[in-house]
Formats: sequence, C-alpha cells, structure tokens
Amino acid sequence: MQRSSIRTTIEDIVNYWFSRVDECGLSVDASEAHERCWRCGCRTKLEKCHIIPASSGGKDEPSNLILLCKRCHIDNPNVTDPEIMWDWLRAYSVPFYDTFWDLLGLKEYEFIYHKSFFSELGNLGINNTDEINNLLKEFAPIIIKEVKHHYGHPYINTATIAGAYRMILKEIARKYNKIITPLDYSVPRRQWYFGNEK
Ligand SMILES: [Zn+2]
Repeated sequence: MQRSSIRTTIEDIVNYWFSRVDECGLSVDASEAHERCWRCGCRTKLEKCHIIPASSGGKDEPSNLILLCKRCHIDNPNVTDPEIMWDWLRAYSVPFYDTFWDLLGLKEYEFIYHKSFFSELGNLGINNTDEINNLLKEFAPIIIKEVKHHYGHPYINTATIAGAYRMILKEIARKYNKIITPLDYSVPRRQWYFGNEK
C-alpha cells in the first residue's frame, strides 16, 4: 500500500519512464501520465506504486515506481520480477480514455454468461452498430440510474457493470418480444477453464 515516506516525486517517475518506454500499448499518453492511472487511464488521484515491493527490498527510486489509482494499486502484481508489472499494464491497455472499467464489465459479462453481450444481441437479430448504439442510449441511462442506488461503495464494480449489461439485454429482448436464454447452471464451470471434455 501507499507509504507516505516515498520521496520520489510524481514528476520524476513520469520523466523516467516516459523517456524509456513506448507509450503505445499503455492506457495513458506521456502528456497525461502525471494525472491519469497507468493501468485504467482514469483521471483521478494517483498513488506511487512499487514495481518490486518495498517489503521485498524494492527501492524508492523512479525505476521502481509507477503511478496507479487506488483501485488499480490494490490489483497490481506484487512480485519480485519487474517485467511482470509491464506485462500486466500492457495486457490491460485500452485505446480510449474512460472506457476501461466498462470493457472490464463486458469481460466479466462474458465470464458469467459464456457469451459476449454483443453476440447475445446478435442472437436477437441485432447486429447493426447504429441500432445497437440507439438501444444502449435508450436503456443504459435507466439501468445505470437503478444500479447507482447501490450507494456506499467507492466505485461501481465490474460485477455490477456486467449485471447492468444483462439487465439492458433483458430490456431490449422485452422490447422485441424475445426471450433471453437463462444461464445453464448444469454446465460445469471447469469446462470453461479446461475446455469441453465431451
Ligand atoms: Zn486505475
């Protein structure tokens, strides 16, 4: 976690890394790396995060620090191989700001329902991008308003975003008088991890 004793400045960390790494494939551009999280790209308060943990001897110097938001700081890999931090940052990079958590919610949706939200729309016969955008504009604000009532948490977590997409899908199906196939609980979860054994 954040230690107030870190003396290296945000400016030093940005200058060190963005003169060395290729910003392509990261969620943040060099010009905004001092104010946006290097993993999710959100503009928020940043914490100085050790690459090699201080508890494993990681030093208080720019080469061992990156900038993350509180939420990503909790999720970051705490391991002693510095390459793994960059593998992680690049694996999660998104091309546009303010899309990260929504995309993670869609990934969570796929994990829960075994299908992507958009393939489920395709199953309803909805494939046209403009049509999809219009439907999202119609239903997303209603559902988002509902889920936001779940106050007391510092942010809307990915399971909530995935659930909101499911609710939107059900609303769309209702509009077209169609039915969403419920999740088949009889399919063993391990098939998902290790492949279908049939
Ligand atoms: Zn973040």
